[in-house]
Order: sequence, then structure tokens, then C-alpha cells
Amino acid sequence: MSTRVRSVIRVEGVVQGVGFRPFVYGLAVRLGLGGLVGNDERGVFIEVEGAPALVAEFTVALRTSPPPLATVERVSARAVPATGETGFAIARSTEGGTRRALVSPDVATCDDCLREMDDPADRRYGYAFVNCTNCGPRFTIVRDVPYDRPNTTMAGFAMCADCAREYHDPADRRFHAQPVCCPACGPRLRLLGRGGEPLAGDPVGEAVRLLRDGGVLAVKGLGGYHLAALASRESAVAALRARKHRQEKPFAVMVADLAGARLLCEVDEVEERLLTSGARPIVLLRERGEAASRVAPSVAPSDGWLGVMMPYTPLHHLLLRRLGEPVVLTSGNVSDEPIAYRDEDALTRLRGVADAFLLHDRPIHTRTDDSVSRVLRGRELPLRRSRGYAPRPLPLSLGLPRPVLACGAELKHTFCVARDTHAFVSHHIGDLENYETFRSFTEGVEHFLRLFDVVPELVAHDLHPEYMSTKYALALEGAELVGVQHHHAHIASCLADNGVTGPVVGVAFDGLGYGLDATLWGGEFLVADLVSFERAGHLATVPMPGGAAAVRQPWRMAAACLDVAYGGAVPEDLDVVRRNAASWDGVLALGRRGVNAPLTSSAGRLFDAVASVAGVRDVIGYEGQAAIEWERLADPVEKGHYGHRLTGSSPFVVHGADLVAAVAEDVRAGTEAGVVSARFHNTVARIVAEGCARVRETSGLSTVALSGGVFQNALLLVRAAALLEEDGFHVLTHGRVPPNDGGVSLGQAAVAAARDNHR
Ligand SMILES: [Zn+2]
Ligand SMILES: [Zn+2]
Repeated sequence: MSTRVRSVIRVEGVVQGVGFRPFVYGLAVRLGLGGLVGNDERGVFIEVEGAPALVAEFTVALRTSPPPLATVERVSARAVPATGETGFAIARSTEGGTRRALVSPDVATCDDCLREMDDPADRRYGYAFVNCTNCGPRFTIVRDVPYDRPNTTMAGFAMCADCAREYHDPADRRFHAQPVCCPACGPRLRLLGRGGEPLAGDPVGEAVRLLRDGGVLAVKGLGGYHLAALASRESAVAALRARKHRQEKPFAVMVADLAGARLLCEVDEVEERLLTSGARPIVLLRERGEAASRVAPSVAPSDGWLGVMMPYTPLHHLLLRRLGEPVVLTSGNVSDEPIAYRDEDALTRLRGVADAFLLHDRPIHTRTDDSVSRVLRGRELPLRRSRGYAPRPLPLSLGLPRPVLACGAELKHTFCVARDTHAFVSHHIGDLENYETFRSFTEGVEHFLRLFDVVPELVAHDLHPEYMSTKYALALEGAELVGVQHHHAHIASCLADNGVTGPVVGVAFDGLGYGLDATLWGGEFLVADLVSFERAGHLATVPMPGGAAAVRQPWRMAAACLDVAYGGAVPEDLDVVRRNAASWDGVLALGRRGVNAPLTSSAGRLFDAVASVAGVRDVIGYEGQAAIEWERLADPVEKGHYGHRLTGSSPFVVHGADLVAAVAEDVRAGTEAGVVSARFHNTVARIVAEGCARVRETSGLSTVALSGGVFQNALLLVRAAALLEEDGFHVLTHGRVPPNDGGVSLGQAAVAAARDNHR
């Protein structure tokens, strides 16, 4: 019985900055084992010694009961001779070697910390930076690995004696919590006026007063600055819109708690879990009728949906509690610029937008936008995966022979770094169309390569020669390039999202992506696995009169589609024709001549065309606006549909213009727009189902992957999936990365990895 064994254990996964060492320490002490635990570049190393049964129990517990924020991916152990050690210690972090540790995403303030913040007797009472091993900033403050205070933006704050005691006490909740701090030693709040001049008084109290007075407040958050205004005050929200030059895109609101969310919106169980999760995304919720009296019309001008989030930093909690009502919280930028995250930059760029600045002296290292999700079919559908999620690794089912950098697409851009069996999809970079976002991309790549110790040997990219991400990839030296077709990347991202490799029937419906035949694709039925794909069917091509202008002006797509459907004789009494009479003939001519009118099979453009024909929107203010409004208009009860035509084979062609004409006729007959919208959606769902059934006949495949930005459309996704399932298909949808172009980088990485395995 006196036999002792000693085991050297390595734990890999998200195990740093999540309270893993204290957990190991507590476990060892409880079991009476000797040894040590420490962080290094690969994760956590442990040596443990004692009775064989207890060492075994210890090893099992590492896997079965890790701390809540940890993700244990691998535990490996080997026996070494016992040394007689009986005490257990925490070793200093080591540096050098490879950096294989995984950095945790930022985590919303935990209940224990909130209790302290609310306790007048606690030394952190009312403190805006309270955090512990279980919560607080992580990814946004990490400069380098290993994850230790000197490698974070907390490096400049020396711990006071009280904080140091907690930090070094293995029994304390703050044991080795790197951002630990208190009012005596940590970051401090400041309130600055419009011109950056310090304002007197309690910063939170004065900020609350300013908001109540209808002012616009810039607030420094975890990943950047927000602009805040009282959600109930129309004049304040309207002022915010005007100053931000953001006319129509809905704002999100922050509520103090779940009860606050329920006052405004319907919240089901899954939505509740998402709202209160450590990631705290903005969750798209259905508005209740009563919301109208609590939220000004300018918050979300178009419809019955509202983006809602709960406080995720102590500062948010303090503000919302003192205020007692919801605030609009939108990214701190003007129009489409990236959000400001450096203090000097914020003070400059948001001057003229904010009436005051509530900020602090803890720097943000990586700009990270709020994440956005909705719940569909009982699970999360990410629309933007960023703060709270990035850089948590996504598992790849195929191991990577060589490390990959996937450069992503263009809009809603992300990139992805992958090695071994991990894909690290970046935070949301934005639309890669100006120098500022492009720099975020290139700096982000450098940061990720360093954090995750990757020297990419493969560089995956889109085929579009004009994407800045493609140009970046082509300019890199020393790596092998892997071009991945845009819609193949979408389907591959859905496969990787679901941990499968295919082959499947892939339905990729989106705005635009560069095709293999010099047309712009976007309504594609593919037979695809991770390695390759075949185009099995697609929407018939139509011209986009004016190119990019046809994206901003959906009525141009309406004109092009109607021209095709009516064989050049579009009825002149259609409202869409009347409304755009001045330019109608010119645009038709542009389409017919095919000059500056690229051909596209895009499903997104089809949605635009019908939304315009139905009178929803002739010109858009932001990407996807017409389609979003068109979807929300749909009468949920209407079960009718239009006819549709699929002709030819390999690839078959779906005659989308017919559908535009059917909508036009229904509108002309005076059918209510909500009914028309529902019939249109039902028809597209049937087209998806029939297209997949055709592909099954020739391929024998009975699994379908639905991807592309069009599948952010809840009505279409739910109805198409239902029809497919009725017909015996297994349906894959997104749950971890967005179906939109934010997921493309993961798909590119998965394709590059699969091809490399396949060599
Ligand atoms: Zn905490
Ligand atoms: Zn302190």
C-alpha cells in the first residue's frame, strides 16, 4: 500500500486564463498528492505523485470536471520514478519553445464578482474592473503568450498587497487571475467632455446624468468604443443616427438583466441561455407589442425585431443599474469605419458624435466587435462571430499536415489560422474596402500567427482577383497558394462547422461570389466534399445593370429580371416601372447590351429584385436590407406558392425570373405584400428541395448542407429544411460560424487541409 507513483501529465486545449492551475492545485491538495503544475506555451504541465488509485482519479478528473471556461482537448500522461515529494506547488511559467497554448475569449462578469461589486463592505464595491479567474477580459488584452500579466495590457498595473495576496493564494478565486485588480491598484474610469477635457464628479453618475438628459455617450468597452443613448428617447437616438451617418441599419440595445429583455422581447429558453452566456452576443429577438412604448422608433426603424444584449463588463452593469432603463449601444464609429478602440483615436474620430467620453486606462490590444446571433430550429445561428467567441478554436475533423492561413473573402471579413486539428477563426474584421480595415486584417494575421505559433505553409484564398484578401494572399512569399471557389468555401465551412467531410449536396445561396466561368455565382447547387466540388445546378444568369450599382439599387435587378421574364415587354403599369420611370429604359438597355452588366446567378439579387417589385425597397442603405425587410414582411400563416421551372441537367437551371414575374402579377392583382412575400419564400424553399432531390437522383447523396448569406433568412431556412427533412434528407446548417461570408475563411482552411491530406 505504500507504493507511490509519479506521473508527468500534459493538458492541452483552452486551459490558460480559465482557472486551470488553481483547479489542479485544489484537486491535488484534496487528494493529498504531491507535485507541481505550470503553464507553458503548449498548455498546462503537471507532475503528480501519490498512491496509484489517487493519481488515476486525479488524471480522470482533469478530463471530467475541469473549470467551466476550460476546454480540455487532450490529456497525456507518462510514468516517471517517484521522488517522495508530498507538497504541491504552482510552478512559474516558462517561455521559449513552441507556443501551443490556446487563448480564451473574453468572458462576461461572473455572479461572484457582481456580488462583490454590489457589496458596500467589499473592497471592490462599485469597482468597474472587478474580475476573477472565471470572468473578465482575455483575448482583447492579450499581447503575447504565455497568458501571463506581463503579456497583457494589464502589464502597467502593479498589484497592490491585497490583490497580490489573492493572486498567490491557491484557495482564492483570483489565484493566478492575470487581470486581477482593485480600486487601489487597477484601471480607473474617467469622464471627458466633447473636446477631451476632464469633467468633474463621479464618472458613472455624471455619465448617467448625461444619458438621461438625452446626450450621446462614448463608452470604452472590452473590444472597442460604443456609442450609447437612452433607448426610449427618440431625440437622443435620432441625434446618434444623424451624427453617425447611419440612417437605417437597426441599433442594438443593452438591457440591465433578463427581466429587462423580457419587457421588450419574446425570449425562449435557448435565447435566454445565449443572452446570459459568458459570450453575451447581441441576440436578435422578436419584439413584444409593449416594446414600442419603451424603445424609440429610430432604434430599429423597419420592423418587429430587436438586437438585445446583456451587460458583459462591470462598467456596463454599473451604468445600466444606475440608469434603470435600456440604452442603445452601437459601435463607436462613423458610417462604415472600423470601431475605435484606442483612446486617442476615439477622442479624435468620435469628436462631434459623442457629447462625452466614459473611458479608462486599461488599453485594448485587439479591436473586437460585439457578436450577433439568432436562434433557429432550437439552436444558435451565428450572424457575426467575434467578441466572446474568438479566438476559441474550432475542431477540424481532418488533421492538418501543414499549417494554413485562410485569407477569407471581402465583406464581413474574417481570416482563419489552422494547425494540427484546430482552426482559429478570427474576430470580425469588417468589410475589407478601406485602408483601416485592411490594416486590421494584416495586423490581425500577424497577431494570430504569433499567438498560435503558426508559420503558414499553405495560404488559402478566394478566386476573386479584386478582393483585397486575394491580393494579400498572392503577395505573400514562401507559402503554397490554394485558391478556393467562394461557394465551395461556403459549403466546406458548413461541413467543418458540423464536423463532417462530405460529400453532400451543397446549396450555397448568397450575394455574389466569383465563379469558375467568369460569371458571378450565388444561387448554386453543388456536389461537394472538402476537396472538390461540381456545379450541379444554379439559378439562371441575369445581367446586373450597372454592376455594383445594381447591388445598391435593387430596382435595377427588378428591371433585368422582368425584362427576361416578359421577353422584353414589361407591363408599364407595374408600380416598380412607374417609380423608376426616369431611368428604366436606360437600365434595360444596359442589361441588354451587356456592357457594365455582369451576369449573375445570385440568389441574393433575386431576393432584391422581388423586394423591389413588391414595393419594399428600390434602393438599399446597407447590405442585405431589401431581403431582410422582405423576409420580415412575410405572413407566417400563408402556405401558398408560385410555380417554378428547373430545366436541363448537369447543371440544371432554375428560372428565377419567372418568380419575379409571378410576384409582379400578384402585386398587380392587389394581393397583400405579406402574402406575396410568404408565397415567394415558400417557392424558393420548394426550389431548394426540388434541386436537392434532382441532385440526389444522380449522385445518391442524401445529406444537404445549407450555406451562404441568404440562409440568414429564418423563414427560408426553416421552410427549406422542413421540406428537405420531409423528403428524407439529413440537413446540415450552421451553428458555430455564420452562413454569411464571415464563415468563408473556415471553409477555405478546411478545403486547404483536405487537399493537403489528399495529395
Ligand atoms: Zn468573476
Ligand atoms: Zn489591488
